[in-house]
Amino acid sequence: MSSMPLDKVQVFRCPNCQEFINTSLTECSFCHAAVDVQAAQIAADAQGHAAQAHSDASVLKIMARAFLTLYLLSWIPIIGGFAGWGAFFLSIAIPIMFSRWWTKHASVQSADPDYYKAKKMSFMAMAFWGGTMLLWLILFVLQIVFYAAARQQS
Ligand SMILES: [Zn+2]
Repeated sequence: MSSMPLDKVQVFRCPNCQEFINTSLTECSFCHAAVDVQAAQIAADAQGHAAQAHSDASVLKIMARAFLTLYLLSWIPIIGGFAGWGAFFLSIAIPIMFSRWWTKHASVQSADPDYYKAKKMSFMAMAFWGGTMLLWLILFVLQIVFYAAARQQS
């Protein structure tokens, strides 16, 4: 990024046609509706918040996927130990990140589709986390039952 004043130009959705335009325009380049500078600034800020919420939720989604992957890798001998530690770390980090997402973004007043997508994505990540935790628990219990049964037989 340079220090040119043009950098102040922010992107937002035209309230009339929902196409992406920027705050330097006096009229929408798609539908030619007049752009109210103040309203445009507010819309651009909301757009920025929505984009931030979306990228934070994306990180959450990647972490949730990594959690399942690392957990499955933890069953592999030798390298599994490292993966197990990673999975353990993520099992704690994901709920923390999820609650941080909600404290940071829940108050965003945005009708932006990106924001709704981000909300949904954060829930999906949490569901993914919950599923992996359940799998972990079930396999853990099965393992104990299996070893107990094996010990009794010998
Ligand atoms: Zn427009």
